[in-house]
Amino acid sequence: MSSIQVVHSIDSCRLAVSKVRAQGHSVGFVPTMGALHDGHGSLIAAAVRECDFVVVSIFVNPLQFGASEDLSDYPSTFQQDCDLASTLGADLVFAPDTTEMASSTSLTTVSVAELSQRWEGASRPTHFDGVSTIVTKLFSIVGECKAYFGEKDFQQLAIVRRLAADLSLPVTVVGCPTVRTESGLALSSRNSYLSESQLQDASVISEALYTGKELIESGETDVVQIKQAITARVVQAERLSLDYVAVVDPTSLEPIDEVEGEVRLLIAAAVGETRLIDNLAAALGVVSNG
Ligand code: AMP
Repeated sequence: MSSIQVVHSIDSCRLAVSKVRAQGHSVGFVPTMGALHDGHGSLIAAAVRECDFVVVSIFVNPLQFGASEDLSDYPSTFQQDCDLASTLGADLVFAPDTTEMASSTSLTTVSVAELSQRWEGASRPTHFDGVSTIVTKLFSIVGECKAYFGEKDFQQLAIVRRLAADLSLPVTVVGCPTVRTESGLALSSRNSYLSESQLQDASVISEALYTGKELIESGETDVVQIKQAITARVVQAERLSLDYVAVVDPTSLEPIDEVEGEVRLLIAAAVGETRLIDNLAAALGVVSNG
């Protein structure tokens, strides 16, 4: 059993954090939907390295799920999550009730225009407004902090950076690299839905991205060629259904035609009923990564 402090109400979270801040301690914040894995663990570890007091929130945000999505099936491993957060050195788990966090009487939505509409937003039209609204509310509860988000959800990271800047929130958003399995598959709570053979199929998603990245690093600048190579790799795996492949500017997420400097490769594909996303940094002749 972990000894980490767990609070459920907004007031008790605010109180606990304001006490430590009044003592002059810096605050790190890692928002999650639980079912924690080593990807979440890397964010918590980064927060613990850089901040005096670390809050991990666990909240399956109903506002970011579409009507036909997996809200009711979303995995939950609360006690294990608390144990992991505690082992990694976090100080507080904030696990709010849905009624308080996403009240059905709330009239307010936070929406980051343009960035929220493309890619994941095109396939999941209400998703990012749900994310932005709840992340803004979490930021208002935790207050001044460094907040850690994974590059795994690259569009989400761009949107959260933008909302924090646009609303002058006292939050420094820190992006952390994607944690992968040995086969390259990005860790995701949704991987728990996959069978052994589906996990193998799913690893083709990252393989396809690495194909695109290598092409760029060997000097290919034509985005049509790069997207074709990525698509061809996915199509070979017959049980993957491709949603989109994109080569984008890493800040605006706008599609580009010709690679110059650093770009981001984005992909979404479904394995059976499970939709997965991934992305990679790539630059002409440069091996950087995330
Ligand atoms: P979630 O619980 O899926 O909402 O994710 C909570 C945070 O963990 C988000 O900032 C994600 O981007 C991040 N995250 C999820 N998977 C990974 C991963 N494989 N590597 C790094 N960060 C991740």
